[in-house]
Amino acid sequence: MRRAVSLACLPWGWAASRVRPGLRILMYHRVAPGLAGDQLTVHPDRFEQQMAWLSANCRVRSLSDALADLAAGRTRRGDVVVTFDDGYLDNLTHALPVLLYHKVPATIFVTSAFCDQALSHPRYPANAERLHLTWDEVRHLARQPGISIGSHTVSHPYLSRVPAAEAEAEVSNSRTLIAQQIAADVPHFCYPSGDVTPREAELVARAGYTAAVTVAPGANHRNTPPHLLHRTEMTDADTPFDLALKLSGAYDPVHALLHWRRQRKFAQAAASNRQPSRKSPA
Ligand SMILES: [Zn+2]
Repeated sequence: MRRAVSLACLPWGWAASRVRPGLRILMYHRVAPGLAGDQLTVHPDRFEQQMAWLSANCRVRSLSDALADLAAGRTRRGDVVVTFDDGYLDNLTHALPVLLYHKVPATIFVTSAFCDQALSHPRYPANAERLHLTWDEVRHLARQPGISIGSHTVSHPYLSRVPAAEAEAEVSNSRTLIAQQIAADVPHFCYPSGDVTPREAELVARAGYTAAVTVAPGANHRNTPPHLLHRTEMTDADTPFDLALKLSGAYDPVHALLHWRRQRKFAQAAASNRQPSRKSPA
């Protein structure tokens, strides 16, 4: 269904990407076998196919380089960035060898309490296998060519649903903690679950991050706010043909509709969560 609508939108996307080339930031989570059907997991074979296609057909950039070009109006058609959320161990075991082989740079957004092994992403049940990267592994990744580490908060909350002081601590403390662990600056942030309102964007800017990524779909242009960058979700179902469609913008209308529904849910949840904590003036 999504593919059919996307094909119908292809001429529009194709024309738009030529008239106004934008930067595409791809969003991955896990790269692992044995999780067929999980929306956030791409099989290693599929990932290898996608990276091979990207390196042959696009200019894959580091997030820093791509954003510098975006700000200077130097973005070219086919400029792409690869990102990973949550800091899964399989980013090291399954994704890294493929990234290095194809010389694809990537940014991995880690959640500091996941790296402490104090918390784990609730989507995946705890079992004998460790789910998240340790700090040693994060440091190892940070030393690899083209790999950079970004922040994905301390404990992965829905930021808009927690009090301002708590949200500020999540945003700011994670930056300090990760920077200490990798002994490098952490200029980029990623909103957990894409949950961002103007308050969170402001907190992220104030914490000193130069840019932040959301899950809002679409390409990024010179006038895209740097703390509200758009990303394009990648899945295991994406063949090179789908990847080409996504990069052309053909999937954007479908993704925009899904995103609008998700944002409406976030806004409702944030409103009901903040209600009880509002202090009475009396
Ligand atoms: Zn996440």
